[in-house]
This record gives sequence, C-alpha cells and structure tokens, in this order.
Amino acid sequence: MSKIAFIGLGNMGGPMAQNLVKAGHDVSGFDLSADALKALEAAGGKAAASASAAAQGAEVVVSMLPAGQHVESLYLGDAGLFSQLAAGTLVIDSSTIAAETSRKVGKVAAEKGIRFIDAPVSGGVGGAKAGTLSFIVGGAQADFEAATPILQNMGKNIFHAGDTGAGQIAKICNNMLLAILMAGTTEALAMGVKNGLDPAVLSEIMKQSSGGNWALNVYNPWPGVMEGVPASNNYQGGFQVDLMAKDLGLAWETALSSKTSIPMGSLARNLFALHAQKGNGGLDFSSIQKMFAE
Ligand code: NAD
Repeated sequence: MSKIAFIGLGNMGGPMAQNLVKAGHDVSGFDLSADALKALEAAGGKAAASASAAAQGAEVVVSMLPAGQHVESLYLGDAGLFSQLAAGTLVIDSSTIAAETSRKVGKVAAEKGIRFIDAPVSGGVGGAKAGTLSFIVGGAQADFEAATPILQNMGKNIFHAGDTGAGQIAKICNNMLLAILMAGTTEALAMGVKNGLDPAVLSEIMKQSSGGNWALNVYNPWPGVMEGVPASNNYQGGFQVDLMAKDLGLAWETALSSKTSIPMGSLARNLFALHAQKGNGGLDFSSIQKMFAE
C-alpha cells in the first residue's frame, strides 16, 4: 500500500480520496474547504494543514483541482510541490485542464526526475463515489503502468491515450460531445413537455429509441424523472456549469490551435456561457434544462 497525498477534495476528489482510503492506502489530503477535510477524516484519511504538509514523504500525489491555474500554482514555482517532492515520486493530475498546461507541468517534473501523468476522468460524481470512473491517461508507458494499480482503486476503465497531454485532448473531445448531448436532450424534453407529454414517459421512449444517450440514460436533466441525479436535487452537486463552460473554452482553444471546425461545440459553449452568466454557474450542468423549460 502506498503513502498518497490527495490535493482537491471537492465533488470528485472527495469520494476518489475516500476510495483510496478504503483500498488500504495511507491518504493525507488537503483542500481549502474545512468541510472537505472533515469528510476525509471521517472516512479514515488524514487532514493536512497545507498541500506541502500532505505531500511530506508521499510516494504518490494525486490532484483534482478546478482549472489549470490551480494545477500550475500547486506544482510549479518556488513554493510548488515540485521543489519538495523526491525524485521518482509519481504525480497523477486528474483535473481537466489544457493539454498545453499538462505538457508544461510534465516538462518541469521530468527535469526534476518526478514522474507525471495527466489522468482526467469521466463518469461524474456517481462514478467517483462508486469507484467506476474512466481514467484517460497521457504520459510515458512506464508511468502509466505504475499508476494503473492506484487508478484501479478509483475507476474501472483505464485508458492510455498517448504522451503527456493526450489524456486532456481525449477528455476535452468527450466533454464537448457530452455538452452537445446534454443541451440536445434538454431541448427535446422541453419540446415534448410543451406539447403535452409527460417527461418521464418521453424519457423512457427516447432511452429505448435512437435518441438514447448518456445524459438521458443515466443523468436525466428533468427534475423528478430520475432518482439520485442533480436534477432531482435542485441541480445541487454533480458537475458545475462553470466547469463545463471552462471545458468548452478548452475545446475552443484546442480547435483553434489545430484549425478544426467545431460548430456544435461552439453553440454548446455559447449556451453554457449564457446559462452561467444568468447566475447558474454553481449549479449542475444538467440545469441547462431551465433555459429551455422556462
Ligand atoms: P469542485 O469545485 O467540487 O472541487 C474542487 C476542489 O478543489 C474544491 O473543494 C476546492 O476547495 C479545492 N481547491 C481549489 N483550490 C485549491 C487549492 N489551491 N488547494 C487545495 N484545494 C483547492 O470541482 P469538481 O467537480 O470536484 O471538479 C474537479 C475537476 O474535475 C475539474 O477540473 C473538473 O472539470 C473535473 N471533472 C469534474 C466532474 C464532475 O462531474 N464534477 C467530472 C469529470 C471531471
């Protein structure tokens, strides 16, 4: 079993760290939120006073932070963890950030003999709690192999997408598609309901028909249709609109840098940005339903 530092114990990181504790690892966590630290302690982990304290003597560091600037400031610079970690430490960043940022952080890690992989995830808060996440890894084959047993404690499908940054590219392609599917699902449900259909009946019909997709099948956005999803809990928890808007911004940058046309992704980006501007940034992304249902 390994000594693991876990930085970022939010909606995703909290349950992921708890699964590492359950698997028998010695987990020391840090988050800016006192409640998040208490939850880790209650699950048998240790609450550290800083990221640096959590990483003291760690063999593995896992980070699950909101965006690229948080990841850069955690690892880089004089106060960053890379100036503290021993050579050979395995660093797994599971945050969804720009591939370019992962490559920049990975390059500094390599200069110090620290092993770094980008390992963004898919599967949502439900997958994080159940330990069934998909990990999409970018990095060297040997580091991928070293990380796999740790990732298997938190997830089911572990993919190696390519070199450092490749995990982020694959993840951004996936999330752009998810945003398009969620926006399309909410639009179809609103049209059916406005034409007299019961949202639960319509959902069941589309699930069993060619319109079935992940958003509809396991994350229904209409309140009350499905138990245990954010839509049935006032769109609390889950995956915030602000984070989806960030990911669609990353998709836009990825498209620009590769001269790729993304008309559907661009529309989804504008819809989620508008939804966030209207004060919904902290809600789960399935709340885009409100834009069409109101
Ligand atoms: P979140 O906002 O719930 O959690 C982020 C946590 O990081 C918060 O608890 C915050 O206090 C903490 N934090 C911020 N700065 C910190 C710092 N400097 N030091 C320590 N802790 C710090 O977000 P989340 O939903 O858990 O998402 C985390 C990442 O995972 C994001 O990059 C997101 O895009 C990605 N992601 C989320 C989901 C999802 O369904 N929520 C799914 C896949 C990927």
